[in-house]
Amino acid sequence: MQDTTRTEIDSLGEFGLIEHLTKNNETRQAGTILSVGDDAAVIDQFGRQCVVTNDLLIEGIHFDLMYTPLKHLGYKSVVVNLSDIYAMMATPTQITLALGLSNKFSVEALEEFYEGVYAACERYNVDLIGGDTSSSKVGFIISVTAIGEVAPDKYVTRSGAKVNDLICVSGNLGAAYLGLQLLEREKRIFLENPKVQPDLQQQKYLVGRILKPEPRADIVEWLQEQGIVPTSMIDVSDGLSSELLHICNSSSVGCVLHEDKIPVHDDTRAMAMEFQMGVAACALSGGEDYELLFTINQDDYGKISRNKDITVIGYVTEQQEGAHLMTKGGAKHKLTAQGWKAF
Ligand code: ADP
Ligand code: MG
Repeated sequence: MQDTTRTEIDSLGEFGLIEHLTKNNETRQAGTILSVGDDAAVIDQFGRQCVVTNDLLIEGIHFDLMYTPLKHLGYKSVVVNLSDIYAMMATPTQITLALGLSNKFSVEALEEFYEGVYAACERYNVDLIGGDTSSSKVGFIISVTAIGEVAPDKYVTRSGAKVNDLICVSGNLGAAYLGLQLLEREKRIFLENPKVQPDLQQQKYLVGRILKPEPRADIVEWLQEQGIVPTSMIDVSDGLSSELLHICNSSSVGCVLHEDKIPVHDDTRAMAMEFQMGVAACALSGGEDYELLFTINQDDYGKISRNKDITVIGYVTEQQEGAHLMTKGGAKHKLTAQGWKAF
């Protein structure tokens, strides 16, 4: 008899679904060094190593064209992929770009999108080397594949964190999420009364963080210059708690994260107050900051502490101890990922 069981995608969630679909994925090629499960895959080609990653951006899910300038969208489509390459401590070299287009776009609109794509390519020294173009009935679809290079076996995975390592993050967190809340609020106001033009001049920082993120090439370069090899690394695309749990799961370790150490920009703090949101919650669950989250051996603390743009936010523990958040008040909470509700 035919098995008619139907499992809803929702019951697995994004990460459960990927795990389910790829658990029997076989590796046939000797050149496949690192497969599914990290920010990028690593392949060996005649002794040289390449990293490869792909991200899909869909209108209405990942971006809203009402408040996303096309030039920014082109730029962001490229840099979110470069961020995954940097998160392997690799250097991006090429991208391919595939587009699904609805006929509401004019050639001029697409030229604007490509201006952003080319600006990102120039800024990060990568070449656009191909792609694909199709019509789409469900809005604008953007798929970018990024390729990068890394010295043999010098890539950094999510799975190397060791007990007593320090957990570090670059820049500050939660700003992109609040920038998005701000844009969503202005959109609602505009839809209710189109005569009211949004004034976002005062909030350039937050809006810039969501519309035009920059991957942390500078941090990777600095770590390399200092000879610091992180034991694990991931980029913060989904929120700090989700990313830290990825490192913990991949590395089979636990962690203690100090809420009061999480770096937050003043504008983020002020806007969280305005929205009556906890600023830590914005950093923990917000996402899209594209900062780098990584662990280092304690011996590297001296060097790390000299970089004002890197903050130590916690430490790695034995797996049995679990993953925890220490709040400002001294309470210890289990770290949970809000997860993802796209389906
Ligand atoms: P990131 O947030 O860094 O882009 P994801 O969470 O999207 O990473 O993906 C996690 C891992 O799962 C990556 O190694 C990615 O290549 C892999 N992956 C995602 N979707 C699929 C899929 N449909 N089939 C195979 N592998 C996938
Ligand atoms: Mg990533």
